[in-house]
Amino acid sequence: MSKTNVVILGAGYAGLRALRSLQSKRLDIDITLVNKNEYHYEATYLHEVASGAHAAERISYPIKDVVTPKRTNFIQDTVVVVNKDEKTVELEKNGTISFDYLILALGFESESFGIKGVDEFGLPMVDIETSKAVDEHLRKQFEKYNETKDESYLSIVVCGAGFTSIEYIGELTLQMPKLVKQYNVPAEKIQITCIEAMSNLLPMFDKELSDYGIEILKKRGVKFFVGTPIKELTADTVIYEEAGELKSVKAKTIVWTTGVRGSSIVERSGFEQRRNRVMVENDLTAPGYPEIFIIGDCSAVMDSKTNRPFPPTAQIALKQGVSAANNLEAKLKGTAIKPFTFTSLGTVCSIGNTEAIGEVMGRNLKGYPASVMKKIIGDRSLMMTGGVGITAKKGRFDFFR
Ligand code: FAD
Ligand code: NAD
Repeated sequence: MSKTNVVILGAGYAGLRALRSLQSKRLDIDITLVNKNEYHYEATYLHEVASGAHAAERISYPIKDVVTPKRTNFIQDTVVVVNKDEKTVELEKNGTISFDYLILALGFESESFGIKGVDEFGLPMVDIETSKAVDEHLRKQFEKYNETKDESYLSIVVCGAGFTSIEYIGELTLQMPKLVKQYNVPAEKIQITCIEAMSNLLPMFDKELSDYGIEILKKRGVKFFVGTPIKELTADTVIYEEAGELKSVKAKTIVWTTGVRGSSIVERSGFEQRRNRVMVENDLTAPGYPEIFIIGDCSAVMDSKTNRPFPPTAQIALKQGVSAANNLEAKLKGTAIKPFTFTSLGTVCSIGNTEAIGEVMGRNLKGYPASVMKKIIGDRSLMMTGGVGITAKKGRFDFFR
């Protein structure tokens, strides 16, 4: 009898965690892992690449380092569509592959909310390529300033003030002195503006904590506009609404970080979804498809406390990876599945390398201790996707200033 064919799509937090968990089990299965790149990247550190703080290699490692060749066949390719009823997956270069069980973990894309000009002029930060593009774009604008003396080349607008925006600005403001020196541009003319639709900044934290974080950024020269939803982007202008009036800021660098949606493959494959996230069953499978697990940012799981889906995070993606592998094992063995449950351990938002704010297991943290906690959390994630060897190579151990 042929072995059960398990296909995993995506080698991010959710996909790699599920892979490692399945590889460690004694099961009569063949595993195929499909990912568009030959490397895994730590999406939680993309802002470091976008701000030029680190090269892409610092936050990525080869997928082959976590694949056990005897058990897993790794295919580097791009998923085009899942034919859920035929139980096949179409790939860009390698044709069609079939599965008995599928784990779909294709991650997130940038959310434009259909706002005019975003696709053309907004710079998202959703993978290595787009994050590198943000850094390269900004450097080109500094060069153009020197050719033209047009100050809009020194103006940067960061759209939205969620965690991605704040972590990016935190790191960018630390990199700025180096950029100013390298491109010989006037520091006093550089303008960083963050425009947020909601009237409160970082409302998920106690006010004292969010004020602490925002004050650091204001001291580094960042201007915040709040209660000012962005309505349109052009090549060099961000148009927003303030008290019913349309206003604008000139900027040649417009970083688009107003939120995420799941992979568009989810919608293209005909799953019932909202913003490309499937409200999964309690065993993490898609409704009506007990052999298809959907995990990570492509899935939605209700938080009974807020009556809303949990926010998409690496923390929940990692936990879902293990749970999907365990429930797949239960299905193969005919034992009871274990419903997925999640309690957040907390959140830490970095403001550059040595500053952060956060709430971890009910305790508020700020400043340097919070930044150490952030690195510990990152190392823990790395351990779960990559194991000891990769954590030793790529982990953050610069705890001491
Ligand atoms: P991903 O990590 O996005 O992995 C998806 C994988 O699928 C990628 O390897 C991708 O290349 C691959 N893929 C995508 N499309 C295709 C395709 N068509 N074909 C083949 N392969 C494909 N969360 C936290 O919990 N803590 C944090 O501190 C934190 N910080 C963040 C900082 C930033 C700057 C950002 C952007 C996000 C942060 N997040 C954080 C959120 C977290 O990164 C995501 O929730 C997490 O990456 C989701 O994991 P995933 O496995 O679902 O997807
Ligand atoms: P987000 O949805 O958390 O924040 C986006 C922000 O943009 C919101 O404050 C929203 O009000 C604002 N916004 C939306 N439309 C706007 C508009 N038209 N004009 C102005 N502002 C607008 O998105 P994110 O920061 O990209 O985070 C995505 C996910 O990743 C979240 O679940 C987040 O929790 C997670 N994440 C976590 C961390 C961390 O734990 N440190 C870091 C980054 C991201």
